[in-house]
Amino acid sequence: IKNTSSLIRTSFLDYFIKENGHAFIRSSPVVPFQDPSLSFVNAGMNQFKNVLLGLQNPTFKKVANSQKCIRVGGKHNDLSSVGQDTYHHTFFEMLGNWSFGDYFKKEACSMAWTLLTCRFNIPSHRLYVTYFGGDKELGLPPDLETKEIWKSIGVNPKHILPFGIQDNFWEMGKTGPCGPCTEIHYSYQDGTPTPEKVNVGNPDLIELWNIVFIEYNRSGESSLEKLPERHVDTGMGLERLVAVLQGVKSNYDTDLFRPLFDVISRVSGARAYTGAFGAMDHDGLDTAYRILADHSRMSAVALSDNMFPDQNHKLRRIIRRALVTCERNFKMKDNAKLLGAVVEGVADILAHAYPEISRNLNKVQMIIRNESEIIRELNRSTAKEWNKLVKQDQRLSAFTGVEAVGLVPAYRDLRDSLVDKTKVLSSEIAIRLYDTYGLDADLIDDLASALGFSFKRDDFDNDLKHFKQERNKSFSSNLDLTANWTSTLIQHNVPFTNDSYKY
Ligand code: ATP
Ligand code: MG
Ligand code: MG
Ligand code: MG
Repeated sequence: IKNTSSLIRTSFLDYFIKENGHAFIRSSPVVPFQDPSLSFVNAGMNQFKNVLLGLQNPTFKKVANSQKCIRVGGKHNDLSSVGQDTYHHTFFEMLGNWSFGDYFKKEACSMAWTLLTCRFNIPSHRLYVTYFGGDKELGLPPDLETKEIWKSIGVNPKHILPFGIQDNFWEMGKTGPCGPCTEIHYSYQDGTPTPEKVNVGNPDLIELWNIVFIEYNRSGESSLEKLPERHVDTGMGLERLVAVLQGVKSNYDTDLFRPLFDVISRVSGARAYTGAFGAMDHDGLDTAYRILADHSRMSAVALSDNMFPDQNHKLRRIIRRALVTCERNFKMKDNAKLLGAVVEGVADILAHAYPEISRNLNKVQMIIRNESEIIRELNRSTAKEWNKLVKQDQRLSAFTGVEAVGLVPAYRDLRDSLVDKTKVLSSEIAIRLYDTYGLDADLIDDLASALGFSFKRDDFDNDLKHFKQERNKSFSSNLDLTANWTSTLIQHNVPFTNDSYKY
């Protein structure tokens, strides 16, 4: 079959490796390697961070790969878009090529343009390019060199547009390698140019490829240091490219997702996926399909890379949301059965590029079942308790129907530590409710006001940020948990592999 996602991934890699002399580097696991500034690997360049900073010599000067990325939390957080739009996922694959002190702007732009227009045959009038328009505060000039490069390549000048820091200055996180970038966007519409639709979140005109010219290290809030060498770091979302090349307007209509929808309807008996969004999705089932498929991919990838839910709260929340979706929207009492089946589908679809998912499938299934049992038990014990508490304390009646998990211990904690002493809910206690009992800020706010405490949300947000930073510093202590899990898996005779970092 032409244009399958596997073939498209391979064509990208072949183009850089066979035609343009790049070396292939495997995707790193999604677990950040000794980098407490991240919860998950969020871009192809993460594994090359030290090379880009000049702290490590590259094994090869030109490399290409397809990197497993997760964007939940941190600077690039896409969780709230998942299920709602056609092109943001928690887990996605980033196709990339790099030059470590080798080629620079001209070669990077022209290779990208040739691949899209001559190999993949995307009509050039469908493409828009953006460049960095400069920033006064940081003292950075506009990147007119890149603008001229695009002109010389033959891009229609009406399709070359400047943007500011937000879109065209790429940064990995609060600190780290960064630089101006130029991006290629794809328009699903023919006809007159529509530059006003670029970078405004329009599903008709989506960002496809980011080409970053790494020249700086951000070491703090307002300080940029020039790096010893200049590098190229590019990233193109595979799912978006596949949608374009398979002629569909939603990533969910590609062969990366459709087979997962088939599994969901077959196992649950639910009606088929119809591709409705927003208000058009009357019963919310299509959105649930997208969320479940997305979260299954993310869980399969993170778990098979040896990340554990006890280690990473964000992963735990995603798995639980997937399990809740199985139960609520797809009426599957045995939620782990459905999630497990979808995860198996993920392993099949991605088997060619990431065989570690199928190799670790038993382990992944076991952890999912374990999570399902933990929340079932928590729900069972707390629902009873909560009903008792609501009878005793009328102020809690506003919370009927809210999931009781976490509320019971939170209420007890509040009652015992605050009553008759103060009427202010301190950040310290609020953080405990957040971190230990899993209440989100809105729920803490509601609970505080129901019980008559004042709660300063801004202070809490700031203190929580600080708390997370401090906890990240002790990140390495989490490695103990990995050791615990590893021994559990050995006891249960579950085979697993631990892919080592290649860089
Ligand atoms: P967007 O503006 O669409 O959110 P971005 O500017 O945050 O994308 P980059 O950090 O530039 O994305 O990442 C490089 C490429 O990775 C993007 O051009 C896009 O193709 C892809 N990409 C980024 N985020 C996602 C996501 N959540 N899901 C799928 N693909 C993504
Ligand atoms: Mg984004
Ligand atoms: Mg963008
Ligand atoms: Mg971008």
